Amino acid sequence: MSGSNDHIGGEARRYGNATIGEAVARLRAGGLVAVPTETVYGLAADSTNAAAVAEIYRTKGRPDFNPLIVHVPDRESAGKLGKFDDLASLFADALWPGPLTIVVPKRDNCPVAAAVTAGLETIALRCPAHPVMRELLEQSGLYLAAPSANRSGGISPTTAEHVTRSLGAKVPLILDGGPCERGIESTIIAVAGGEYRILRPGPVTEAQLEAVAGKAPILADTNLIEAPGQMLSHYAPSKPLRLNAETAADDEYHIGFGNLPGDRNLSPDADLAEAASLLFAALHDADASGKPRIAVAPIPNAGIGNALNDRLRRAASPR
Ligand code: AMP
Ligand code: MG
Repeated sequence: MSGSNDHIGGEARRYGNATIGEAVARLRAGGLVAVPTETVYGLAADSTNAAAVAEIYRTKGRPDFNPLIVHVPDRESAGKLGKFDDLASLFADALWPGPLTIVVPKRDNCPVAAAVTAGLETIALRCPAHPVMRELLEQSGLYLAAPSANRSGGISPTTAEHVTRSLGAKVPLILDGGPCERGIESTIIAVAGGEYRILRPGPVTEAQLEAVAGKAPILADTNLIEAPGQMLSHYAPSKPLRLNAETAADDEYHIGFGNLPGDRNLSPDADLAEAASLLFAALHDADASGKPRIAVAPIPNAGIGNALNDRLRRAASPR
């Protein structure tokens, strides 16, 4: 293990063999561990242990109707939990490991605790690419439920420090793998009847999905909150947030993009992937700044820009 990096409250330690071993032991004993993924930091627990799953909900203050994503090491494990038709298999084979969550019908003998799926007949599955999360999955042999490691409704964490700021001592061990590369939560699709719907835009773009499926998604029914991450107010900073702000008032912390410099710029080169990786860190900084309000420059609605604007709209919605 390279030197420790302790914070107040939860202990963030750099990822190393000793720490992975400890994390595995904690998970096997029904404990929680915060772990980096390529999207955001997750709060992981054994998805087959009902008490451990209850602890995730309690720690996050997450409403019990909001189901959890189960992380698996590979496609084969996913097939033991959910039923993959041809289209779901196509997505998994083409885009896993990666930042894509696939919602499929749950198997009758699926061993995950009932609370994970919040009473639904479906299960959300993801095979992540991050080496630390992969090692944890492989060494533990567990299927890990892992929502973002923050208080429910707050800004997702993209560094170990963000986890500590949001959850503090409630999380005894944070594996610190540095900043998350993608920085925005996984794309969620639901696959059924040979069709697919996008439940949450994310790093895997609609164009990528279309290229794999050979067809466009069908529209998700917006009147039906199928993925509670679709709730309007979510990912929210504690301050009012204004969108499409070309300029900012004196009392606004301005998050810039491209040629609008702002107090900090998500990507001076107007690179949307770079902007996505820095969005939540910028919102955390804006929240911690002395300014009472936040303004965000316009972000183009193309590719991963869809996911950025989705999160920003929710961040701007009153609770
Ligand atoms: P989070 O882990 O906080 O990124 O949130 C996970 C998202 O996955 C939430 O919006 C959930 O509602 C969604 N989700 C999990 N399971 C299902 C499911 N069976 N059907 C639809 N959405 C789901
Ligand atoms: Mg979350």
